[in-house]
Amino acid sequence: MPNILVVEDSPTMRQLVSFALKRIQGSNVTEAIDGVDALKKLSSERFDLILADINMPVMDGLKLVSLVRNDPNYKDIPIIIITTEGAEEDKKRALSIGANAYLPKPIQTQELIRLVNQFLGK
Ligand SMILES: [Mg+2]
Repeated sequence: MPNILVVEDSPTMRQLVSFALKRIQGSNVTEAIDGVDALKKLSSERFDLILADINMPVMDGLKLVSLVRNDPNYKDIPIIIITTEGAEEDKKRALSIGANAYLPKPIQTQELIRLVNQFLGK
């Protein structure tokens, strides 16, 4: 059963992503509100995939990507970053520090499902 961690500070966006992911059969979704919360959740459970927003208070998505990639326990978990439309620099930076893919806002459910399935090996 794939275990997915959704990291997003906006409750509306978080709900939208979680709801879309429930269309993936048997997936289990855990939500985190920022990078610090995500690290807390990573330490208590094993995840198959991380979907993370870039702009978040406390700890943003870029910092989270670099910490995950530098931690031997988490470094192999695929990360899909959620980017603001047109934020080319953030996108490039995220990919250069180890994010596997990006999903631009406004989020298209079908694209989200396609990407997630790709990284879950479906
Ligand atoms: Mg945000």
